[in-house]
Amino acid sequence: MKKIEHVGIAVKNLDSANALYAALLGKKHYKSETVESEGVITSFFQVGESKIELLEATNPESPIATFIEKRGEGIHHIAFQVEDIQKEIARLKKEGVIILNETPKIGADNKLVTFLHPKSTHGVLIELCQEIII
Ligand code: ZN
Repeated sequence: MKKIEHVGIAVKNLDSANALYAALLGKKHYKSETVESEGVITSFFQVGESKIELLEATNPESPIATFIEKRGEGIHHIAFQVEDIQKEIARLKKEGVIILNETPKIGADNKLVTFLHPKSTHGVLIELCQEIII
């Protein structure tokens, strides 16, 4: 694991969350992106070498909608940047960690991503992400 790449925060309304985080961090988000496969609109703020990712559901079946329904708005996941996501998946599997998708998916912000089940990580949804080099 190289660093905390970002912290994902589930929000009900991206516009108002964008305004709040812009005021909080003293800068605007640098990009907004829809990830159809996950049913989310994301918005990214750079904070030092890490980021804040705000997530709003685009439909009621979205994992973000389900999360907010169960637990309310708040921290949804922590993302760690890795060098080689396939290698990390294999390593963590051996450690007994439950991997949600063993074949990494293309996520927001030009990354290959996978998630670790909170059941095997003390209640925290962990994302692993690897930069896609084009
Ligand atoms: Zn994320």
